[in-house]
This record gives sequence, structure tokens and C-alpha cells, in this order.
Amino acid sequence: RYNFNPGPAALPFDILEEAQQQFVDYNGMGISLLEMSHRSRIVEELNQETQHLLLTLLGIPYGYEALFMGGGASTQFALLPMNFLKPHQTANYVLTGSFAEKAYKEAAYWGRTHVVASSKDQKWRSIPAINEEDLSEESAYLHITMNNTIEGSRYTSIPEVTSTPLVADMTSEILSRKLDLHKFSMIYAGAQKNLGPAGVTVAIIRESWLEQASNEIPEIMRYSTFAKNKSLFNTPPVHAVYMMNLMLKWAQKQGGVEQLEQHNLVKAGLIYEVIDASGGFYQGIIKAEDRSPMNITWRMANEELERQFISESEFHGFEGLAGHRSVGGLRASAYNAVPYEACKALADFMNDFAQRHG
Ligand code: PLP
Repeated sequence: RYNFNPGPAALPFDILEEAQQQFVDYNGMGISLLEMSHRSRIVEELNQETQHLLLTLLGIPYGYEALFMGGGASTQFALLPMNFLKPHQTANYVLTGSFAEKAYKEAAYWGRTHVVASSKDQKWRSIPAINEEDLSEESAYLHITMNNTIEGSRYTSIPEVTSTPLVADMTSEILSRKLDLHKFSMIYAGAQKNLGPAGVTVAIIRESWLEQASNEIPEIMRYSTFAKNKSLFNTPPVHAVYMMNLMLKWAQKQGGVEQLEQHNLVKAGLIYEVIDASGGFYQGIIKAEDRSPMNITWRMANEELERQFISESEFHGFEGLAGHRSVGGLRASAYNAVPYEACKALADFMNDFAQRHG
């Protein structure tokens, strides 16, 4: 089947097969990795190798700590202000979709927050410009959501912000395009789209910023605790880290982020072309210049037609094309592991459907 699920999302078949073979008998050791102590040398090395691979693939091998944590990206919404928003400061947020809004709301439980820009009034159809003069005084950081999974928009480039640390939720686009991540003080991502299965969350923090993180919160909530203990402070999700390791090696074999980016643009291009050439049969939701290659969203004339599209698509082997329950419509998530053939097949199916129902 062609898997367009928004996350947990498609994984390359090769790595699922490799993991299956290793599942019972890890590297000929006679036991599964699932049964191994996280204090063992094997797990420690796996953890460190995976952290190093991740930072290298992202182009920031020095000066940053890669932390492997639990709780998903949603927990980062709360941990970020707990670690970096001091009582005399304000945290700045750009609202570009429902996950951005959730991140903002979590921060508001903790301290002072300020909305710098928002596209909520336009139903999230575009990415608003950021004016640095609109930042609050005593800014702790500026938080953005690089790719908006539900709505299907993304920043085309990293906003130029120099007066405050820049933090991004990159859950639905990490490792999908070449970006100068040195511009960020911190990025974070749940693994379940481009990094592997759910269960591990990565928080990547500039070392010099990490030094400023709070030590007045419970130890388990502190980024510094994870950094000091190489993400082995408590029992980590070992199998999820192992799967991420395989996924990163797969990404390396594809030629790294440069190649993946080219591939992703071609794949998404196939589907956007059908939308644009359909004469309004398929209506893209997001303003053309802000459209995401990861999450492609569109609407059709009415909900009944949309339901028919979904039902026929399922019959023809396509998985996960219904839009998020909060917004409806259609969404094709074409993350790194979704092959060209799947996108080509979807584009062909969309053309055929439009011909029959247009
Ligand atoms: N942020 C973005 C951009 C997401 O796409 C998601 C989940 O899809 C989340 C945050 C929440 O992640 P989690 O389910 O890992 O908490």
C-alpha cells in the first residue's frame, strides 16, 4: 500500500526488515536489544553514535547537544519555558497553526508570553512575516513552528532574528531540507515522521545556551540533566533510538539532506501540479509560496466529494489521505521515506478521479 500517513508515518521497507531480523537476536548476542540494560556498553554506544549521526546529518556536528527524551514534541512545549523562561522575561511566539498554538498555550501556564505574529485570522493559510520590533522587551526566546503538519504550510527560510534566541519545532520537517541550523539556539522534534517510530523525542540545544537553562526545576525536567548524563539519566526508549539509528543511516545512504530535499521537492511537485492544473477541482489550502512539501493539503467542492475521494483512494491502495479531524479536507504527507512511486501513483489517481467526477 501507498502510505501517506501524517505520523506515525511511512518507514523505509529495508529498515523494517533489518530491524525484524535483529529483533530476536541483536548482533548475534543471543538476546534482543529490548532486553538489554540501558547501562550496557552496547546501548551507550548506540546512543552516542545516534546522537553524533543526527548532528552530523543536520550540519551542526559541533557546539550543539542532541538530547534523546520521552514525552513527544508536546512535552517540549512545556519543557522549553520551564528551562528558559525566567520570571522577569517574556517568551515570544509566532502562531502559524494548531501545534504552534499549543506550544504557546503551554508556555503561558509557566510564565509571561507574547504573540509576535499570527495567521489565525486567515485560517492559517500563510506564514506571517516577523518584525523584530514587535518582540517583547526582555525576550527569553522566539518560538516558531517550521512546518505546520495539520495545515500544510512551512517557512521557506529561517527567519532572520538576531536579538533573541530562536527556537523551532521541526517535528514534521527535520532532515527534509538543507538549512543553516546554526541560526537556532534550539530545535526539537518528535521522531515519528522523518526520524523513525514514535517513542523518542530529540531536543538539540546550542551548548552556550544550555548553560543558561534553569536549575530550579525538578531534575528530570532539566535539559542539563539529560546533557550531563548523555541522555541516560533514566531508562531511555532504547528500541526507538535503535530505529532512529537505522533511519539516519538510511538518510545518509540517500545522500543526506541535500539529496532528500531534491527528492522531496520532486515528489510534492507531482501532487501540487495536479492541484494547480485541476481548474479548481482540487483547491490548495495554503498560499502557494508557503506550501509544505511534507504535508500537502487541499479541499474539494463539498464534503461528500471529499468522502468519496477518500473511500476510492483507500480502495486503490492509498493510506492516510483524510485531513486532520480538526480541519477536514485532504492531506498527503510525503515525508522522506515516502517513495517517488507513491507520489506518482497518487498524482495519477487524482487526475483520473478528477476526470471521472469533474
Ligand atoms: N509539533 C508538530 C509540528 C507536530 O506535527 C506534532 C505531531 O504531529 C507535535 C508537535 C506533537 O508531537 P507529539 O505527538 O510527539 O507530542
